[in-house]
Amino acid sequence: MGDIAFAEIIDTAEVLEHDGTKVYCANCQHCKLVRNSSGNEGQYYLRVRCDAGKWRKKLGEEKIYKYFTVARRSLDSCDAYEPMGDPKEYIRELKKSLPIKDELYTL
Ligand code: SF4
Repeated sequence: MGDIAFAEIIDTAEVLEHDGTKVYCANCQHCKLVRNSSGNEGQYYLRVRCDAGKWRKKLGEEKIYKYFTVARRSLDSCDAYEPMGDPKEYIRELKKSLPIKDELYTL
């Protein structure tokens, strides 16, 4: 599995109550789903990363997030934001499949 740009898992209610200027990373082409080895052969966790390099720790290293938290990644603005389609269409489908916790997957 390569990097997957996925569209969002945005909470519809959050979108509706917002003024429309907030950026949800899950709805951006730069938000990629990646595998992260668990240390055990053939097993991995799912993580998300920003391939525009916008997610950084204080010392500058890249920060990645657990997949199941992706809907929480939002910003007031982002100069690299590239929205993908109508969020509402994705929400319905992705919310059905978004795990509720960090899960271990096997190849
Ligand atoms: S480019 Fe900006 S909006 Fe897109 S995933 Fe990275 S931080 Fe989020």
